[in-house]
Amino acid sequence: MKKIILKSVLLPKASGAVRADILVAGNRFEKVSTPLVPSDYDNAEIVDCSNFAIMPAFYNGHTHAAMSLLRGFADDMELYKWLSEYIWPTEAKLTPDDIAVGSRLAILEMIKSGTVFFADMYWHREQTMRVVEEMGIRAAIGVTFAEPLMTAEAWANNVEFLKNHTGESERVQLVVMPHAIYTVGEEKTAELIELAHAENYKIHTHLSETVLELKNCQEKFGCTPVEFWKRLGGLNSNFSAAHCTHFSASDRKIFAESGATAILNPCSNMKLNSGIPQIAEMLKDGIKLGLGTDGDSSNNNLDMQEEMKTIALLAKYLGTAETLPAEEALKMATCNVANFFGLKAGRIEEGFLADCLLIDLNNERMVPCYNVYSNWVYSANSGAIDSVMCNGNFVMRNRHVEGEDEILRDARECAKRLKS
Ligand SMILES: [Zn+2]
Repeated sequence: MKKIILKSVLLPKASGAVRADILVAGNRFEKVSTPLVPSDYDNAEIVDCSNFAIMPAFYNGHTHAAMSLLRGFADDMELYKWLSEYIWPTEAKLTPDDIAVGSRLAILEMIKSGTVFFADMYWHREQTMRVVEEMGIRAAIGVTFAEPLMTAEAWANNVEFLKNHTGESERVQLVVMPHAIYTVGEEKTAELIELAHAENYKIHTHLSETVLELKNCQEKFGCTPVEFWKRLGGLNSNFSAAHCTHFSASDRKIFAESGATAILNPCSNMKLNSGIPQIAEMLKDGIKLGLGTDGDSSNNNLDMQEEMKTIALLAKYLGTAETLPAEEALKMATCNVANFFGLKAGRIEEGFLADCLLIDLNNERMVPCYNVYSNWVYSANSGAIDSVMCNGNFVMRNRHVEGEDEILRDARECAKRLKS
């Protein structure tokens, strides 16, 4: 079994940081707090980590990876105009090869900013799955449903695909993803809930993103989006939703009691003027909370560190200065998302998946270092990440990712064609 020893790394703990020698065996952390013995060093690669702190890697709970090709394509307008006049018509031109190019660009960006997992809602899923395997990270790949954007045949193919597949590999799982209430109606949503339940899949969707969505939902179905999902029996611990920007007090109570997870995307919400997630109230009501970036075309990056700082600031703005301390904000970007997707990951602990970041303690934003969590959440940016490990393998070392020049070249060529 492959072994790596992270020698003398700064390990943050609630009680203060300590120096530790961490043994990675195969794809797990085998020893974190236990002292190493001479036999642990047999055939192990030793990595000198005396200049590094170790942090859990990020788990992005909601994105549209290949939309990286549309970064900066249309900005400074609200969601529906942005989607219907710019994004959907251009997306219709994307070929399966373009999706591979866009997914590579997104994953390169994710790795460089410390993300090793993403939940992806998009089209041509096989391309994205292939690229995830190639580049060594993890994903929950959506089998995406949206009635106005699909033929009946494509819909049936998706259903068949879900019936004939399960988890695709050690690092890739499938998730049923109805796009939103305004693109999948009541009958079809009910069918997808039944399918997910029968085939043991999780469900992920966009929910309560804008005031317009709420208004239309009230007119069409006579209830809020949360009540809609509850009425159809889809709200439970296997359900997660992106945005959740406009929950009423009653929605929050229903959602918390169901055990579902809300994946907040504050940067995208603010940029599209969709609203602000009521994070302080959601925390008080005990809703399970994770973080996502949404796509590159509405964020306009996939940087979970930025998202983490943003949610921490919003929580304090909406609550008090004590709301959502640094360590709790970090959990929203790491283990909370991993937990929903059934991964024993997002913590530097024995038995957990060996996914982690080595943070450069010589980076100016990490100095001085009274509290590593504080520096990582409030001060640093992704430039402080020296190396990224996923599943016991380094996918970035000394800030270098294999093949990055080719990935950028292909993305530039593709963008030129899309613009013409
Ligand atoms: Zn989205």
